[in-house]
Formats: sequence, structure tokens, C-alpha cells
Amino acid sequence: MKDTKDPQARLDALRADTERRNPAQPEFHQAVREVLDSLAPVFAVRPELADPSLGLLERIVEPERQILFRVPWQDDHGRIHVNRGYRVEFNSALGPYKGGLRFHPSVDIGVVKFLGFEQIFKNALTGLGIGGGKGGSDFDPHGKSDAEVMRFCQSFMTELYRHIGEHTDVPAGDIGVGGREIGYLFGQYRRITNRWEAGVLTGKGQGWGGSAIRPEATGYGSVLFAAEMLAVRGLGLSGQTAVVSGSGNVAIYTIEKLQQLGANPVTASDSQGYVVDEKGIDLALLRQIKEVERGRVSEYAARRGPSAKYVAGGSVWDVAADVAFPSATQNELGEEAARTLIRNGVKAVSEGANMPTTPEAVRLFQEAGVAFGPGKAANAGGVAVSALEMAQNASRSAWTPARVEEELAEIMRSIHAVSYETAERYGAPGDYVTGANIAGFERVADAMLVQGLI
Ligand code: NDP
Repeated sequence: MKDTKDPQARLDALRADTERRNPAQPEFHQAVREVLDSLAPVFAVRPELADPSLGLLERIVEPERQILFRVPWQDDHGRIHVNRGYRVEFNSALGPYKGGLRFHPSVDIGVVKFLGFEQIFKNALTGLGIGGGKGGSDFDPHGKSDAEVMRFCQSFMTELYRHIGEHTDVPAGDIGVGGREIGYLFGQYRRITNRWEAGVLTGKGQGWGGSAIRPEATGYGSVLFAAEMLAVRGLGLSGQTAVVSGSGNVAIYTIEKLQQLGANPVTASDSQGYVVDEKGIDLALLRQIKEVERGRVSEYAARRGPSAKYVAGGSVWDVAADVAFPSATQNELGEEAARTLIRNGVKAVSEGANMPTTPEAVRLFQEAGVAFGPGKAANAGGVAVSALEMAQNASRSAWTPARVEEELAEIMRSIHAVSYETAERYGAPGDYVTGANIAGFERVADAMLVQGLI
């Protein structure tokens, strides 16, 4: 790579080099670009961090370890299938690798690396001593029986177990991996290792080592982050109409917290379409369909009555709202959707999902003065409560829901404050993307520098 001391030229060269060395990984390129684009102001103040002779930036974009493995499993008819398993252990300068497992057909090494890279800075922002990692498989749990999902999880863990541990690498859930999957994965880990090592996975059930409020944490945290952003502008969530995408773990608890705070969430979606309910989402019905029956949101409209309408294949962002919560998947909110939301008067966007907003859409929101909370900051509540789950496991204790929720609220306030203040300090007031990226980066970089060449 070009050995220049000009910080911007260094960043451009590093970006080009990363793209060349990691071909066909567009999501990873996008995540790296977003962080690098924020860092120039840091190097102006702290040039030592960009010193080419340290190679710090080159090390940060390269995972410490990448594990790829075969996952053979048998369906209910006796047929053998082969999926691919991944675990990317990206950076452990601040603590054991920590980050979820995603089961979705779109998962490949580039997707896992984008998620792992984001996770480094997100985890640093929580201040809780956790490194960054991510994993998953191209297995699609949709339409599979419980027995098939169990056999898949057992096969997946039969390889993964040798790479993880409560002080090494601690996976959790993500898309397609919820309480059911964590149960099967934990059971197989325990069986192979003959150890009750509760802290090896988070998102466990509450009767066997899980934390209160862990299922709720990402969605709740994303709403609390939006409330903080609005408070800076003298606004609140009460009485605001909200548009939420997705209908999984993050979306459901985003809707729940919005309702608790007096807002009116009117949508939910899945990969086939969205539902808009002018009376506000009936959460009990949505949960019955998604969590119990594992059905589609189209069934919500069919059962809810005349207040709800299902739009097959449409964009949920066409629905007018004061606040928006993209909570499904990456790049689900593009330029056109951003223009529509802005035209309809949106005041804040809080990313419950990871990288759901395209870079062009982020720019449009920022130019229009919309408060924009990037996933690294806004959805860090999930991993934060995972770290609290690890703390409870280590001390063999179980905290009350009220205590965990209080800690979560405090952590979200602190992530908002550090992102806000860092943006101000580096001359980008109100720009939470810059603030979160720089604050996370400084914590990781400082730890790496004093730990020698790692
Ligand atoms: P779930 O599997 O519980 O739900 C995912 C939801 O998103 C489903 O409604 C799914 O619909 C929809 N979805 C998935 N892929 C697509 C797609 N390609 N197009 C449209 N819709 C899609 O996952 P989570 O709620 O846990 O995760 C949602 C997002 O939040 C992800 O970006 C994840 O990385 C992020 N996140 C999750 C955390 C957690 O604690 N769970 C923590 C931090 C971030 P369908 O069923 O049709 O696929």
C-alpha cells in the first residue's frame, strides 16, 4: 500500500487496497468505507493513529481469524444437505469476540465480515469490555421443522464448539437465530464439552442462564436512542407516528417500547411485503403470528380487520411517519425511500438493523436535518445486555428485569452522549455517524497501540 503521511490519501489508499484484497464482498467494502470516511478529523488531531509505520489501520480491517466449515445435516425425509458455516473473529483488543450468528440464504463471507467489522466499534461504544466477531450460515430456517432446525444447529455446533468459549468468543442470535436455535446450540455445546459454561452463548432462556430483557434489548435500545436524539431537539416520542420495518426480534420489541412511550407504530414487514394498520399495530396478534405460528405478516392483515392493509412487495417507507425504525436487514432503505420519508416530514431515523440505510440515503437524511442514529450506536442495546448476561453467568446470579432495564437505559444514554459529544469535538455537530465511528475507533485503536504488534 502507498506509504503516504497525508491522512486523506492514506485512507483512500487503504480503502482501495481493502477492496482489492477482498473481492466480491460489497457489504464489507461498504462498512469499511463508512468507517474510514469518518476518520480524517481524528488523524488531523492525532496523526500517530494514521502513522503508516504502525500499520494500525491495515490491522483493523483484517480479521484476526476467519473460520469456514461444512455443515452437513439431514432433513425429515432422510435427504442430506450441505450448508456453509462461518465465524469471523475480527478484533479482541477490548475483550472476547462477541457478536451474533445469522442463518439466512444471503449469508456469505462478505456479509459476515461486514457484520463483524461493525461489531468491533459497536461493542467498543458500549464500554463493556467485549471484542468484535460475527458468524452464521447460508441455511434458511424458513419452512423447516423444529427437528430439522435442531439437527442443523447440532451439526453447526459440532464444528463451532472448538473455536468458542466464555473467555474466547461468545456468539448470540441475529437474523434467523432466536431462542429456539440458541437452545439447540447450547445443548450441543454442553453435550460435546461436558461443561456447564453458561457464558459461552448469550440470548439463552431465562430458566437456564439467560438474562431478563435480553430478547427486548435491541428494540428497546433503538427506541431509547431515538428518544435521546429527539430530546436534544426539544421533542419527545409521545404522540408520534412511527414506521417500523421487519417483524422479527428487533421489530417486535421496537413496537412494544414505542407503545409503552406513547408513540403509535403503524407498520410491520417481512421480505414479501408490509402491513399498515391505521389503529396502530396489535402487538399480541403480530406476536402470535410471528413467534408462535412462524407465519407471514400478510396473515396479520387478514385477521386484524378493516384497519389493516397488506401491501405485497411494497416499500414500508411509503407510509408517512414522524419517526422511522429500519429493523429488518442491510440496505433496505435507499435513496428513493429516504426522499419519500423526508417529504412526509420524518424527524428521526434510528437503525435497529445493521447498515439498513444506504450511504446515499444517510446523506439525504443528514442534509435534510433529520436526526439519524446509525446501527452501531442505536442497536447496541442487544449486545450490551448480552454482556450483562455474561456478567450474571460469571457470578451465577440473575438480575431483576427492572435492574437490567435500568442498566440498558443508562448504557443507551451513555452511547448517545459519547456519540454526540465526539461529533461536536471533531467539528461535526449532530452527526451521529461520525461521532459513533470516531468514539468506537479511538477506544479500539488506543487498546491496540498499547498491546504491541497484535
Ligand atoms: P429476525 O430473524 O428475528 O427478523 C428479521 C426480520 O427481517 C424478519 O421480519 C425478516 O423477514 C426480515 N428480513 C430479513 N431479511 C430480509 C430481506 N432480505 N428483505 C426484507 N426483509 C428481510 O432478526 P432480528 O430481528 O434479530 O434482526 C433484524 C436486524 O437487526 C438485522 O440487521 C440484525 O443484524 C440486527 N440486529 C439484531 C440484534 C439482535 O439482538 N437480534 C442486535 C443488533 C442488530 P422474513 O421472515 O421474510 O425473512
